[in-house]
Amino acid sequence: MVLQTVEILKNEIPFEEESVYISEDSKAGLVLVDIINGFCTVGAGSLAPREPNRQISEMIEESEKVARVFCAKKWPVLAFLDSHQPGKLEHPYPPHCITGTDESNLVPALSWIEEEPNVTIRRKDCYDGFVGSIQEDGSNVFVDWVKNNKIEVLLVVGICTDICVLDFVCSTLSAKNRGLLGPLEDVVVYSRGCATFDFPVSMARNSKDLLAHPQEMMHHVGLYMAKGRGAKIARQVSFIM
Ligand SMILES: [Zn+2]
Repeated sequence: MVLQTVEILKNEIPFEEESVYISEDSKAGLVLVDIINGFCTVGAGSLAPREPNRQISEMIEESEKVARVFCAKKWPVLAFLDSHQPGKLEHPYPPHCITGTDESNLVPALSWIEEEPNVTIRRKDCYDGFVGSIQEDGSNVFVDWVKNNKIEVLLVVGICTDICVLDFVCSTLSAKNRGLLGPLEDVVVYSRGCATFDFPVSMARNSKDLLAHPQEMMHHVGLYMAKGRGAKIARQVSFIM
């Protein structure tokens, strides 16, 4: 049997996924990373998918499901929205998700959360939502949100698994290990609630500046890296009410 490259990779750097149960007593918080048109809606911008993408569609569906549960329970939700000032580039990416355009807004399936009283929206202009939460006075919107809500379990979903989701998770785990995040115990990355983009090597060969980014492989690598830093990777998230 000839193994596909992605299967070889999964055999070489495997990781266990678990089923995570969240109950009324869990003190859970949900973080949605960049589930915005500019990264998720077909044709919505320079970094948006060019055609419908199964991994991205599933990520949106699963994220919406968990957001519905959190909002019904009035549990805390924080949504990061990548939003850049015009003319201020984010190296090495082309201009994207400019503030005030629809690219930087939540996808239609999630736009309703903006009206929910338990939801905090944080526009950020860098990959890492933890760094993007630093305000001019030095305070941090994310750190304050975790502490004020006494969050013990953080559930993370969004895009891209190996970029903004991973960077945020790594910074959060570092901060937690330093004791900066109060009662926070577990950072859970919900794998089916995450996605990344697809840029196969066959396309990257034609471009001297862009790195190849095969979707299935990089999604796996992102989860693997998060797990290596101490996150839990959940294949299944169940709510016990
Ligand atoms: Zn950006």
